[in-house]
Amino acid sequence: MTRTNTSDSRFLLRDDLTAFLSALSERCELWIPQAVGEGVRFLPYREEALLNLDQTPPDHPAKSILFPNTETLFRYERTEDGAITLIPQETTNQPLALFGARSCDIRAFDALDAVFLKRSAPDTSYRQRRNRLVIIGFGCLDPAATCFCERMGGGPFDEAGMDIQMIPLPEGYLFRTLTDRGKALIAPLASFFKEADPVTASQAEALRRKGAPHPDGAAVDFAALKAAVEAGREEPFWESLAAVCLGCGICTFACPVCSCFSLVDEGALKGGRRIRHWDACMFSVFTREASGHNPRGAAVDRVKQRFFHKFFYSLENGEPPGCVGCGRCVTQCPTCIDIREVIDHFQPGEG
Ligand code: SF4
Ligand code: SF4
Repeated sequence: MTRTNTSDSRFLLRDDLTAFLSALSERCELWIPQAVGEGVRFLPYREEALLNLDQTPPDHPAKSILFPNTETLFRYERTEDGAITLIPQETTNQPLALFGARSCDIRAFDALDAVFLKRSAPDTSYRQRRNRLVIIGFGCLDPAATCFCERMGGGPFDEAGMDIQMIPLPEGYLFRTLTDRGKALIAPLASFFKEADPVTASQAEALRRKGAPHPDGAAVDFAALKAAVEAGREEPFWESLAAVCLGCGICTFACPVCSCFSLVDEGALKGGRRIRHWDACMFSVFTREASGHNPRGAAVDRVKQRFFHKFFYSLENGEPPGCVGCGRCVTQCPTCIDIREVIDHFQPGEG
C-alpha cells in the first residue's frame, strides 16, 4: 500500500453521511458497524442497516471481514467414475471497504496477517480479502473505561493500517486520506465533500494530537511481560482464574486478535464442501484427540494457553502481541476475568 506524502483532508457534513455510504456501497463491497439485536457488529452494508459509530468498541470485532465466522473454502464434486474435482470459491477484484473501525481493530489485523499470511503458506481466502481491503478508520473520541489500547502500543487516534482516517467533529467528519488506495476509493465521490476550512482542520488536528481522555496505565513492556509470564508458568495465580472460567469462549470470539478455527468437511456421495469456522482454545474439547486424550484437558491449562499465546508464544515467534487493548473480553466475560489484572500481576507496579 502506498502512503501519500501528505494527508489530504476533506470534510463531510453529518447530514450527508447516509447518502455518502449509499453511494460508496455501489462502488465496493462495504462493511459498516451496525446495530443488530442488542449488539453492534460489522456487517455488509444494507440501505436499512442501523449505522452505529457511537459504541466504543462495537461488541463484535472487525476481524470477521477478513476471517469470517464461517466460510466455505472450496467445494468438490465427484463424478460417476469416482474422479474428484475441486471447485475454488469465486473471487473478485472489487474493493472491500471497512468503514468506521477503530484503531484497535485495525492494529489487530497485523496479528491476523502474521497467522494467515506470514507463516509457511499464505491462506488463500484470507489473502484475497486482505488484498482487496481498504480501511476508513474512525478516530476514537470516547474510549470506554475498559479500553487500554495505549498501554498496548496503540491509541485512540493511531492511524496505523488505515487508508483514510475519519475524525468526528461537531458538524461532520474530517476525512484524512493517508494512502493512494484510500484516495482512489473516495475520488469518484468528491461531490459529497467540501474543502476543510482552516478552523475545522485545526479542530481535528488538535483532537488528533491530544488524543482523547483515556483511562490508562503504564505502557506494557512486552519483553518483560513475556519473561515474567514464562517465569510464572507454575504460579497458583492461574488456578485462581481457572476456578471461575466457564470455558464459554466468549473472550476469544470477542477478541479481534484470536484466530483459532476448525475445519469441517460437509459432503455426500456426489460432492460437498470444506468449511472453516471460528473455534476457541477455551473450549474443553478444542484439543481433544481422536484417541480421547486431551493435552489441555484441565481448565488451568486452557486458561494458561490463552494468555501464553497472547504474551509469550506470539512474541517468541516474532509476531505481534496477542492483545491490542480493546477491552471486549473484559466487558463480555461472564465471570469478570480481566486481562488487565493478568498483565498487572506479571508487571507489578505498572498498572
Ligand atoms: S469469557 Fe471468561 S468465562 Fe468464558 S472462557 Fe473466556 S475467560 Fe472463561
Ligand atoms: S485479549 Fe481482550 S482486550 Fe486484548 S484484544 Fe483481545 S478482546 Fe481485546
